Amino acid sequence: MRLRLSILGSTGSIGRQTLEVVDAHPDRFEVVALCARSNSDLLARQAARYRPRLVVLADPTERPEEWAPKVLTGPDGLLTAATLDEADIVVIALAGQAGVRPTLAAAAAGKCIALANKESVVCAGELLMRVASENGATIRPIDSEHSALWQLLELPHRREELDHVIITASGGPFRTAPLERLETVTPAEALAHPTWRMGPKVTVDSATLMNKGLEIIEAHWLFDLPFHLIDVLIPPQSIVHALVSFRDGCTIAHAAYPDMRVPIQYALLYPERPSGVVRPLDFAALGTLEFFPPDPLRFPALELARQVGLAGSTYPTVLSASDEVAVQAFLEGRIRFTEIVPLVQHVVELHRPLCGPLTLDAILEADQWARQVTEREIARRADRR
Ligand code: MG
Repeated sequence: MRLRLSILGSTGSIGRQTLEVVDAHPDRFEVVALCARSNSDLLARQAARYRPRLVVLADPTERPEEWAPKVLTGPDGLLTAATLDEADIVVIALAGQAGVRPTLAAAAAGKCIALANKESVVCAGELLMRVASENGATIRPIDSEHSALWQLLELPHRREELDHVIITASGGPFRTAPLERLETVTPAEALAHPTWRMGPKVTVDSATLMNKGLEIIEAHWLFDLPFHLIDVLIPPQSIVHALVSFRDGCTIAHAAYPDMRVPIQYALLYPERPSGVVRPLDFAALGTLEFFPPDPLRFPALELARQVGLAGSTYPTVLSASDEVAVQAFLEGRIRFTEIVPLVQHVVELHRPLCGPLTLDAILEADQWARQVTEREIARRADRR
């Protein structure tokens, strides 16, 4: 039996690499649904090649009538794809807030979810983990550090013997640049990531380490880990993705070349580890593996995210949404690189969360609020210049 995949976000970086994994094991997979936000040209080519039953264009600029037996447009089509009866695995590779509702829908439908969308866990982790457990859904993380943690925490151990876990960060392109140089960093420089191939938002987040901050919150929810047990280290080579330390003094590390197809394949074919996508790690050829603690002055996003994670409620949504707007403003040349994190922090400090349990409505409302307030603050700064 071939595994039937519904892929939400098939034209983005993770979606395209998911299809590369499918291409590497054509006898193992059948693509039953493909969804994209707006890249209709690529979606049409993918539909012609993989012949899914369902194609969804969430933000249509044209009517993609003959691409598949069933074609849907608009964001509700994503919910159909996320809950598709025929899908054995729902791959959520959508970028940003757009992934939250489909992920929750897949969890409510009891699906096996291969999850690359950070926001679903960061903003809605409390809700998502509850809905998933109530409905028998499984979440297989695609984020490389969390895939590594998943593999490490599956090793036999007693929870009380776990001392701490470490997720790693490359440190991005400005890890050693003089601090004053960061003021004049251009979008092109921030997008030149030294080790990973990723979309633009996460690449800029990797340069500020906001990405790692969001990943601390992600690890907290995915693995039920208290925040004080989650540390971050910077190995610039991006070969070690996570480590777990036990009370007996042993630390076990997960190592692989930095290639998203490794965690994608593991999430799709778990627990199998076939060859064919990424070459085995050649330790002898690596030479040096270095580890540095992150400098809190250079990377204030880490501590901000940790505090936001501890505060919980709608704070993580505000952090994530405000960062999305701030990163976009930086990429458009409207704010400086060094303004991203202070701006997000300011918006977080302005936020007053709702009382009571976290709901999808509260998340969406906080998201809208954070976007508006961040845009307003960017406009104010522009006026002052
Ligand atoms: Mg990651």
